[in-house]
Amino acid sequence: MAQSDKRKSEFHFFDDVCSFVDKAAQFTSHDKGLLSQIKACNSVYRFQFPIRKGNSFEIIHAWRVEHSHHMMPTKGGIRYSDMVNEDEVMALAALMTYKCAIVNVPFGGAKGGIKINTRNYTTAELENITRRYTVELIKKNFIGPGIDVPAPDYGSGEREMAWIADTYMTMNPGSLDALGCVTGKPLALHGIGGRKEATGRGVAFAARECVSVSEDMKALGLTAGLEGKRMIVQGLGNVGLNAAKYLMEFGAILVGICEYEGAVYHPDGLDLFEILEHRKSSGSILGYKKAKKEFKNPAEGLEQVCDILIPAALENQITAENIERIKAKIIVEGANGPTTPQAAAYFIEKGGIIVPDMYANAGGVTVSYFEWLKNLSHVAFGRMDRRYDENANLNILNTIENATGMSLSQQQRAIIVKGASELELVNSGLEDTMVRSYHEIREKMVTNPKITDLRTAAFVLAIDKIATSYMNMGIWP
Ligand code: GLU
Repeated sequence: MAQSDKRKSEFHFFDDVCSFVDKAAQFTSHDKGLLSQIKACNSVYRFQFPIRKGNSFEIIHAWRVEHSHHMMPTKGGIRYSDMVNEDEVMALAALMTYKCAIVNVPFGGAKGGIKINTRNYTTAELENITRRYTVELIKKNFIGPGIDVPAPDYGSGEREMAWIADTYMTMNPGSLDALGCVTGKPLALHGIGGRKEATGRGVAFAARECVSVSEDMKALGLTAGLEGKRMIVQGLGNVGLNAAKYLMEFGAILVGICEYEGAVYHPDGLDLFEILEHRKSSGSILGYKKAKKEFKNPAEGLEQVCDILIPAALENQITAENIERIKAKIIVEGANGPTTPQAAAYFIEKGGIIVPDMYANAGGVTVSYFEWLKNLSHVAFGRMDRRYDENANLNILNTIENATGMSLSQQQRAIIVKGASELELVNSGLEDTMVRSYHEIREKMVTNPKITDLRTAAFVLAIDKIATSYMNMGIWP
């Protein structure tokens, strides 16, 4: 295993993303300079501001990185973590660019970071930090419905997005489109149904599509379909929890859970909801009586027998150090960057399949796009129900399509015209996106014998799309 993967430096995530791009770039024919432009982060804004904490003051360190302006606005979440650093925010912003390109969501990539451990702050302090962060972005033109649109990420959620929306609206009185400045807002504040579950639901669709291909499963010694497939999920946050729930609905068996306090495992299956209850009352997943094995070191949980491993926590979880002990045959990357390039190369060479992050977790930004469209079109989705006649619905739909330039599938049009709830509309759009994109990526891989993994195929597609945008726009001056 390459020694370079074992280096202790934490600051190589952006390099890792660039190395995936370089690997894919050899299968494209773009100008070297253009490829450098595609890889680079266009704007890196690092700033700090004070907040009042008790009788004292504290300096908060923060970032917003806009990786690519080939499509506007730029888009990406804000990470609240005491581990966040500039390299990480740059890498995550870059991944957003490729992610949006792969699922045809017309945004450039961006990401934000606030270096705090949210547990150490009161709700009022978190509100102050979030509102001040927003004002700093406004001052430098790093936020706006047509500029850069944040969303939730690790450590942030609907509550923080509501504070951002309110701050932006306050600072932009009378702006009709102000609500499109951020997505992932609460439903009652012009959010959209299904956004919270979207990333996890998308991960489940990604896994389902992967195991649906009989010949790929045969090569792994597995049968096609999710029924009876054993999965281990790392992280019971928004992504991991929802991915596990939907995959169980689709027939998979949850055999292992890894959290920061430890891991639990049972080869015949675990009861997710009982474990959640147990954790709520005891503060830990450890000590759950029905588990066959438990591990104080959560990393050991990743190494247990299963078919599908879903890392849905943070980056750098599957590395040169542990890859040889991973028994899963399929890794579905719910998190961004959970597998290092060296670990990924080893796993693929051994015949495993990695469903890459930039596609697998794209469900969140896909539904963010629907929310943004909803905010800008000033229409409440799903209100066109059977109380209206179908001709009237068709007229409304045509007006929306013309105004926003969005183009819906026949299936989505039928749902709208005949009447559907907002949630049905969102979920069908999400499913459609995840299904279509998986097969587009796989097709790219199987039709090019030199491409041996889905990540490289996904990057080739993304690079081609971004390069086309740049060439169409022209480089000015
Ligand atoms: N933070 C999420 C991601 O990494 C969502 C981004 C968005 O909705 O803009 O994809």
